[in-house]
Amino acid sequence: MAEVLVLVDHVDGEVKKVTTELLTAARRIGEPSAVWVGDGAEEGAARLAEFGAAKVYVAPAELNDYVVAPTAELLAKLAQESSAAAVLVSATAANKEIAGRLAVKLGSGVLTDVVALDVDDSGPVAEHSVFGGSVVTHARVRTGVPVIAVRPNSIAAAPAETPGEAAREAVTVELSDAAKAARVVERVQQEQGERPELAEAAIVVSGGRGVGSEDFSVVENLADSLGAAVGASRAAVDSGWYPNQFQVGQTGKTVSPQLYIALGISGAIQHRAGMQTSNNIVAVNKDPEAPIFELSDFGVIGDLHKVAPQLTDEINRR
Ligand code: FAD
Repeated sequence: MAEVLVLVDHVDGEVKKVTTELLTAARRIGEPSAVWVGDGAEEGAARLAEFGAAKVYVAPAELNDYVVAPTAELLAKLAQESSAAAVLVSATAANKEIAGRLAVKLGSGVLTDVVALDVDDSGPVAEHSVFGGSVVTHARVRTGVPVIAVRPNSIAAAPAETPGEAAREAVTVELSDAAKAARVVERVQQEQGERPELAEAAIVVSGGRGVGSEDFSVVENLADSLGAAVGASRAAVDSGWYPNQFQVGQTGKTVSPQLYIALGISGAIQHRAGMQTSNNIVAVNKDPEAPIFELSDFGVIGDLHKVAPQLTDEINRR
């Protein structure tokens, strides 16, 4: 079976959820091999095997000292040597740049912001959600090794039915001078606090323009009572009420939690694009005609400043 290379996203050896999603998708195309850049492969290999990785290529941690280009060179080398059927990466800003560079090196095509992957006799078929989720398109790479960037939380991760061991194989690449032109001088961890990471959280509580001010405590308190992540609509972010790394939607993060609670969010198509695959959606909005109610499993028509604190108190009491 042809190899499918999956670039691993990890933090200090802990494999991120999106990588388990990519491995699940990769199994449909061929045999997944994970590509690990940085430290921690020893700790992460078992998790990768659980989701079907038969092999983990471990690159020198030094590659992480540079910006994107070396990883693209490494993936190009591996893809050529293994005659890979496809290369999958998560659709983060950095990985999309890697994907573009890689496709140029391989003389192939790149598909970004993919939300689902299928396969037919001619290879992988990628699904895109466009115009804020109102239209679905299908596309394929017609020349060379397809390079595919998949949006986090788009594909449900499922462990492999018969997971084996993932053999680790050290790989090196002779970096070109161009690849070494930009070097990382400092990494600054964005303030995250005690809350779970937005894109990976099981519960997300988001606030919109209806919150009314930069005092987001009504949203944060409810989130903390549930052990949830906090999100925000673009209106709230653009107003300067909440930092933009918490924006949910077409131009923000895609989330797909078990429970999504929208406080004072109207449900514009661009917001929906980032949360409509949530398993359960609860909305609090004072306007009974707000479009968010069309996709909600449970809706409360009312003032969020009255409803949310009551809900928070009740949850904290239990
Ligand atoms: P509004 O639409 O103003 O809705 C506020 C809601 O709060 C209303 O429904 C109102 O009834 C309710 N409300 C007010 N007060 C209360 C109260 N006290 N209690 C309860 N309810 C109350 N938006 C995103 O969110 N994410 C994106 O990634 C994104 N990307 C975009 C990309 C493009 C190219 C464009 C053009 C737009 C994008 N937008 C995005 C913006 C989007 O179109 C909407 O403008 C935005 O989502 C509206 O945010 P909102 O629902 O918070 O505000």
